[in-house]
Amino acid sequence: MNAAAPAAPSEPHVMQTYGRLPIALSHGQGVWVWDVNGRRYLDALGGIAVNTLGHAHPKLVPALQEQIGKMIHCSNYYHVPLQEALAAKLVELSGLSNAFFCNSGLEANEAAIKIARKFGTDRGNETPEILVFEGAFHGRSLATLSATANPKIHAGFGPLVPGFVRVPLNDIAAVEQALDAHPNITAIFLETIQGEGGVKPARIDFLQQLRAVCDRRDLLLMLDEVQCGIGRTGQWFAHQWAGILPDVMPLAKGLGSGVPVGAVVCGPRAAKVMQPGNHGTTFGGNPLAMRAGVETLRLMEEEGLLANAARVGAELKAGLERELAGVAGVREVRGQGLMLGIELDRPAGALLGRCADAGLMVSVTADRVVRLVPALILSSEEAAQVVSLLVPVIKQFLSETQA
Ligand SMILES: *Cc1c(COP(=O)(O)O)cnc(C)c1O
Repeated sequence: MNAAAPAAPSEPHVMQTYGRLPIALSHGQGVWVWDVNGRRYLDALGGIAVNTLGHAHPKLVPALQEQIGKMIHCSNYYHVPLQEALAAKLVELSGLSNAFFCNSGLEANEAAIKIARKFGTDRGNETPEILVFEGAFHGRSLATLSATANPKIHAGFGPLVPGFVRVPLNDIAAVEQALDAHPNITAIFLETIQGEGGVKPARIDFLQQLRAVCDRRDLLLMLDEVQCGIGRTGQWFAHQWAGILPDVMPLAKGLGSGVPVGAVVCGPRAAKVMQPGNHGTTFGGNPLAMRAGVETLRLMEEEGLLANAARVGAELKAGLERELAGVAGVREVRGQGLMLGIELDRPAGALLGRCADAGLMVSVTADRVVRLVPALILSSEEAAQVVSLLVPVIKQFLSETQA
């Protein structure tokens, strides 16, 4: 920030679990947000792939206001008709069969892990294991951080939850070898596109091979689409580019357009593993969260946001590739739809603040990957603005720092 910038907001009572930028946001409209000092930013982060419809969507806001006036929460002692409405829609869009609702990504993954274990124990396997991958991020509860690959996320929280076997991504021989060595593995669990791992896709042929392996060995294929699902890549779910179906699909981030909601959507092999009494959550599936999910999916269809994500995402990627071509220090521009990463040859955390100074919000993940996961309503003009704000910042950063 320049010298005239106001001091960082102080928050002596909030537990210090985040390294935050010295910015406090006040409100937003579409892909634009304003801080408490009235400064405007182009939001290419979208609350980390959460604000599917952007900020203050003119049709989402009144729908949620109406829902709050009717009922925010009721207990799962009773039927919640909006749960069936959202489950039916997710089943229609995914080709799977049933959904369980929770409140976040890690909860959806926690449910998936429990399903994988019970799928094993139901078959007489008392020590079920799950195959996971290098670069994976699945959340920060004890089980999901144990499934996560990042040692920084493990540090200080041992002993880790046992029962995870890890192999490299996109290496089918390593998968087969691990399955031979660990006959108690009951499920293969991965992000269709790794998000926190640096926007790294599982290859289409690898996903197809995993589907075949799971069929042959009676394993569950569990695809964590918490970040890459809900239209972000231009398909409802990223695995649809590979033409396969998972058995278990955790969702969260974009599903409620900012209202916390998670889901685990299961195909027929996994949908009946959980029986009454096996799993539950107080808040999960409450009417406000369900309404947010129903309206998000409905408005995505009404506004053609899958096609928009594909088209504007391709424009954004092409613009970045064009403007960054031949720039020393830029390794690769990758990703699909509106889930894009620019890999640099050096730690790039400082770009967060530099971009904010330039009026742009992005994230940096896996240390050196600039990640763009904006709202799916991003227009061509706004995508061009992202390019013209971001590229000079990256070039200047690369010219002032060492690899
Ligand atoms: C963000 C994320 C999670 C964790 O979601 P939370 O809502 O933060 O618990 C899990 N998996 C993936 C792929 C994610 O991107």
